[in-house]
Amino acid sequence: MAPKHKSGCAKRKKCKRDLALAESQKGALKMYFPATSSVDVNNDNQIEESEHDQDDDHNSNVDHELVTNYNFLNLNVDSLLSLYDPRTWDNLDNSKRDILIEKGPVREMDLVFPKDDEGRHFSYFYYTRKLANEEVIHREWLVYSKEVDKVYCFCCKLFKSNQNRSLLASDGLRDWRRISARLKEHEVSVEHFTNMNTWNELRLRLSRNKTIDDEMQQKVAKEKERWRQVLLRIVSLVKFLAKRNLGFRGTNEKLFEHNNGNFLGSVEMIVEFDPVMQEHIRRIQNKEIHHHYLGHGIQDELILLLADSVKKFILKTIKDAKYFSVILDCTPDVSHEEQMNLIVHYVNMSSNIPRVEEFFLEFLKVHDTSGLGLFNVLMDTLDSLDLDVADVRGQGYENGSNMKGKKSRCSESLA
Ligand SMILES: [Zn+2]
Repeated sequence: MAPKHKSGCAKRKKCKRDLALAESQKGALKMYFPATSSVDVNNDNQIEESEHDQDDDHNSNVDHELVTNYNFLNLNVDSLLSLYDPRTWDNLDNSKRDILIEKGPVREMDLVFPKDDEGRHFSYFYYTRKLANEEVIHREWLVYSKEVDKVYCFCCKLFKSNQNRSLLASDGLRDWRRISARLKEHEVSVEHFTNMNTWNELRLRLSRNKTIDDEMQQKVAKEKERWRQVLLRIVSLVKFLAKRNLGFRGTNEKLFEHNNGNFLGSVEMIVEFDPVMQEHIRRIQNKEIHHHYLGHGIQDELILLLADSVKKFILKTIKDAKYFSVILDCTPDVSHEEQMNLIVHYVNMSSNIPRVEEFFLEFLKVHDTSGLGLFNVLMDTLDSLDLDVADVRGQGYENGSNMKGKKSRCSESLA
């Protein structure tokens, strides 16, 4: 008879087994429908008989319109295009695979297919199949990749199991001589049927927003929105302080303590009225979150991002105005390093009333303090800002002995 209580060793073993099981189930939720092939292999030919050879009448009745009208998406986004390249489908994460499945394969029309050594090439006609009763069926699953001049099976490539050795599911097929036979062979294979089913079911579920982890996805979306709202307030706070040249930090970096500076002080003020920030602070205080986005690193990062965006705007206005003047102020600092700042002066024509404007662009580090050295730094900077030195219509200098030096004046070099 088995003992009532398990021994320590048995308990440890069970614990180990449980852990191993948990490890093996990691991410199992994400794989909504693992590809398996459990259907009887003997049914292979049942569909083969209902169709006839399509090669012979490729040029006859197949309605080309049907092909052109079929499920094409007008996708101009570069990032999405790379997603539609079948070569990238081997290591897709679930979110990308979901996008692919929801949208379905994309076909580009008006491609000129390259010929192989025998002068054969892929054709749009392979996208359809004609049954014995003249019915035209779309090969929805067939994908042509112009990058590699090969065809793939959409669902088998996405859901293939390890046993699937079909080229259509792995490296792609370029056997144009036997393409017709190979496609027919593929579309009646068991694995293909299974994968087609998986694809259809998942597409249906995604379209109804009813995947297994639907609830989880909703939670993630909610959390995303919450963070977006928090960031919105922090960014707007950084903008407010930076605009007014107010100091951000005090001697203390803790919320609700003395001398914690304008930034944290303003956060405290917002918390008095705003439920989003109230919730955020509550989570920080309860140690539910460790990333609070209130530290000095984030403040600096946001200041830099905002500065970058302001600078881009200024540069755009300068380019619209076309001509501009540069004003350089140059003086050695305490450590005898030459410091130069670049100010640009131009006429803003963007509104009805032209305005003369002046903007500081950046500090320049100068190593060679000769006039030529300063000139080179200026040239490099204009270049990096994508401003044309030929559009410089004036120059002003202050306080730099090398600027007005008799021997090698920067102003002369620029003129
Ligand atoms: Zn397939």
